[in-house]
Amino acid sequence: MTTRTAAGISDAVRSGELSAAEVLEEHLGEIERREPEIHAFNTVTVETAREAARGIDAAVAAGEDPGPLAGVPVALKDNLCTRGVETTCSSRILTGWKPPYDATVVTRLVDSGAVPVGKTNMDEFAMGSSTENSANGPTLNPHDTSRVPGGSSGGSAAAVAAGFAPLALGSDTGGSIRQPAALCGVVGVKPTYGLVSRLGLIAFASSLDQVGPFARDVRDAALLLETIAGHDPGDSTSLTDPVPELTGSLHRGVEGMRVGLVTEMMGEGISADVAARTRAAAEALADAGASVGEVSVPAVSYGLTAYYLVAPAEASSNLARYDGVRYGLRVEASTTAEMMEATRTAGFGDEVKRRIMLGTYALSAGYFDAFYGKALKVRTLIREDFAKAYERFDVLLSPTSPTTAFGLGELTADPLAMYFNDVCTIPTNLAGHPAMSVPFGTGADGLPVGVQVLAPALGEAEMFRCAKVLEDAAAGLSDPTAAGAAK
Ligand code: GLN
Repeated sequence: MTTRTAAGISDAVRSGELSAAEVLEEHLGEIERREPEIHAFNTVTVETAREAARGIDAAVAAGEDPGPLAGVPVALKDNLCTRGVETTCSSRILTGWKPPYDATVVTRLVDSGAVPVGKTNMDEFAMGSSTENSANGPTLNPHDTSRVPGGSSGGSAAAVAAGFAPLALGSDTGGSIRQPAALCGVVGVKPTYGLVSRLGLIAFASSLDQVGPFARDVRDAALLLETIAGHDPGDSTSLTDPVPELTGSLHRGVEGMRVGLVTEMMGEGISADVAARTRAAAEALADAGASVGEVSVPAVSYGLTAYYLVAPAEASSNLARYDGVRYGLRVEASTTAEMMEATRTAGFGDEVKRRIMLGTYALSAGYFDAFYGKALKVRTLIREDFAKAYERFDVLLSPTSPTTAFGLGELTADPLAMYFNDVCTIPTNLAGHPAMSVPFGTGADGLPVGVQVLAPALGEAEMFRCAKVLEDAAAGLSDPTAAGAAK
């Protein structure tokens, strides 16, 4: 497996020590070897990637600087629009659809010298926690192919874990970057809402969706976030604040930083091995000079309930556009109404239909106040409780996911058990805050455990410093890639 970092690749390509073409072929070789078993991609764009790599090498030869991600292969979740390249959200309804433009994040990557290698598999329209809701079949966890990679950005997480690309982008509405990162043993970041442009990200729940990085280490994740972050006039919710300095402050450590372990995220439903690793992470931060305490954020206990009203409500509205007229699939019928019904019946999978029905119900006249309106009030309470916690602490700590990677098919019959995977990640999205998952050793089954670092809005610099210290401490633990190491 190729283990080059993005930072290392970019340095070597810019100095002429390594060509972008060589780097790409190494990764394509890895994809050829293991992709048939893992199924991380919906599409691998071999030819356009080769062309891009040649362009980078030509620029270097001409004495130009292709940018901070020169020659770095990157995998893109299949809900990010790529001009002329099929973008499906792993849904039958969008099969064959080729967007006429690139998402802003894709443009920024390409402008920084990165080489997109393909579109990754996901739960249909990003609804799920295992990538089993894909119309194209599941992605398997590279650490153990009888297990799921998490979701919904499971293809992106698996691509990075398997060495198909050192970097990938995903989207996180309720945990879809952090949970698969945890289950695949890689770093995953959900930025502050508005820090990264959503232009060209196919909408699931617009008030929660954020694009963010996957990488094998914290520095690469910081480099990728710095590349994609920053104001975009094309997204009305894009922030105008300066992008926090990340790579430049990683070395600063956590001396004097106040870290709060969230009580509500350490209790019921969190498996003992994951809770133990999280406590060990808190101790590692204390050893590095942080002052660590416990903090209660009471309203987060209602996060899951509020999310499963707010997210489906927004989804039911966002997905109304797939009507057989404007995008992708059309199933012909004798009237327009019948055509739309037949198209949506054939085009959407069961989980997407469930969300549309839940959302339509929560927004319907007579139920609006009792469901959607109440959920918005809970959302405000969650924000207020986090604000109180951040008066006493700079960052918070919790497990990312309640368990290590579960078996394929293990939770598919029980939607509520599947939803529970995001119990620790969802509150962040409701608050609009950043959070990231860092690998921290293994569970009792030898599979990776991720620890979550949470921060207030635009607190990414402190969050990354904390993550860096955890990464360094994790290097002293048993190898998370060695299955069975912690048995
Ligand atoms: N698993 C959650 C859901 O199914 C979160 C998904 C996401 O973040 N896109 O809604």
